[in-house]
Amino acid sequence: MAEKIQSIRGMNDILPDETPYWQFIEEKLRHLMQLYNYDEIRFPIVEKTALFKRSIGEVTDIVEKEMYTFEDRNGDSLSLRPEGTAACVRAGIQNGILVNQQQRLWYMGPMFRHERPQKGRYRQFHQLGVEVFGLEGPDIDAELIYMTARFWKMLGLENSVSLQINSLGTSESRAIYRDVLTDYLNAQRELLDEDSLRRLETNPLRILDSKNPQMQELIEQAPRLMDHLDDASLKHFERLRAYLDAVGIKYEINTRLVRGLDYYSKTVFEWVTDRLGAQGTVCAGGRFDGLVKQLGGRDTRAVGFAMGMERLIALLEQDELDKQLKHPHVVMLMMGEHAQNAGLALAEHLRNEVDKLRIFSVCGGSSFKSQMKRADKSQAEIAVILGDDELDNDVVTVKYLRADGSFQADGSIRADGSQTERSDNEPQQKQMTQQQLIEFLKKIVVKD
Ligand code: ATP
Ligand code: MG
Repeated sequence: MAEKIQSIRGMNDILPDETPYWQFIEEKLRHLMQLYNYDEIRFPIVEKTALFKRSIGEVTDIVEKEMYTFEDRNGDSLSLRPEGTAACVRAGIQNGILVNQQQRLWYMGPMFRHERPQKGRYRQFHQLGVEVFGLEGPDIDAELIYMTARFWKMLGLENSVSLQINSLGTSESRAIYRDVLTDYLNAQRELLDEDSLRRLETNPLRILDSKNPQMQELIEQAPRLMDHLDDASLKHFERLRAYLDAVGIKYEINTRLVRGLDYYSKTVFEWVTDRLGAQGTVCAGGRFDGLVKQLGGRDTRAVGFAMGMERLIALLEQDELDKQLKHPHVVMLMMGEHAQNAGLALAEHLRNEVDKLRIFSVCGGSSFKSQMKRADKSQAEIAVILGDDELDNDVVTVKYLRADGSFQADGSIRADGSQTERSDNEPQQKQMTQQQLIEFLKKIVVKD
């Protein structure tokens, strides 16, 4: 046998038994975006490397060690997108949709980072990204947080995640704080790890973001950015808090929250969970007022967030997800060659006649027993059986596959076991003409 070629480590297939959950989440997110009147934008998966270097920052984890960078056939340096914000801003500038306009945009899709694969951390992963341009107030920062809070509620996750907020101030106030922090860290150089020593020269704030347990105490004791904020940023932060209080969204102020990327200013926030081990950030965002200009556009205020979809799916309860699965209404069983021909055409006819009807046709003509097995596995509610007898008499046999399903004497449909127990004199199986079948299926679909 030829050697099997495997996928790339950390880049996963999403198999048919998982895609329903993805579809469910994606649908919910699209719905959420409609509720707030945000518009979708799509941009390429590959961009010039310079875009990410200039926006994310040369001395960030992403640019230093996580990007998939390669030369294309023209010798240009390209990178798979490690995140969406840079490309979204690039697209906005290039297409002239930011100048003197307000945009509320979202996108969804794969991102690529060469990290050490582990639970909740992959090399290809998926994000929902939301970015707003042209609005400066804390009101829009608050709307983004409202939106995410609503999403957790929609999924029953409101008690699984909690909100942390902070303000990074303006770049001017950050520069002052940077000196204070550098002095503090310099005085304790011997406690810094290798990464942090390097960052001390290039970007000391990033040290606060370190996950090294040995450095946590040092970080804990460090001077707080919050104590060095400029007045405008402080006011912005206070107003954001008032917006959150107004709708009862609880939060914790985490003064060490600096986020991993260079471009943030003022508001930053994260939704975190303790249910996913070390990979506990499900959604993260903030304001990036300087980025559009930094990438060659006209000065434009901006704020956004990104949500990690793998982590989100990992958070959802299996039971909740299973409820979302849509099984077929009908499984069509066909016995014998004649029935196979007639059955497939009948299934098509039923699809024409009954809007939204989901039919699974057992093709391939196997024995009744093995067709029944597949019917059970499909979790369909009803089997429609077509054999020689049925064909001769111009009828079909209709059989309830679930224990609580039966044909009630008055011809009504039992609603999902919520009513009385099935009594022994209510048959689970019945013969019908095609027209009766269509009427019956219409009721089944409505109930769904
Ligand atoms: P982390 O601190 O976990 O490395 P980050 O700060 O690098 O996260 P962001 O760049 O803010 O992450 O991305 C936003 C969200 O995307 C994260 O909160 C997380 O949910 C998700 N995410 C980031 N990197 C990965 C990854 N390698 N695999 C899966 N999800 C990821
Ligand atoms: Mg990271």
